[in-house]
Amino acid sequence: MDIVRCNWCEHIYIDSESAHCPVCERNDCIVDLDGTEKYTDKQLELLWEIFGDIPMNPETEEIEDDFLYFPINTHREEIWYWFDENHSKGVGWLMNEYKRI
Ligand SMILES: [Zn+2]
Repeated sequence: MDIVRCNWCEHIYIDSESAHCPVCERNDCIVDLDGTEKYTDKQLELLWEIFGDIPMNPETEEIEDDFLYFPINTHREEIWYWFDENHSKGVGWLMNEYKRI
């Protein structure tokens, strides 16, 4: 799954046929993301939503599509740690509080 960022409005979304950012509709400042960039909390929350749509094997708890630099068959806890290290409120907040706000 290719995830891109619009460097004009900082929106993060899954790359699609349309080359235009769905928020600001520019097409000249879209960059591919690989997970090594620095993200704001807001961007990490967008990534968390995208992560929620990644297919996962319920028995092994491993992802069945790639996500940022994590390849297929990465255990989901490894990705939770990544969110935990990068989001200022941690992965527990994303899991339990984020969607309630
Ligand atoms: Zn944009």
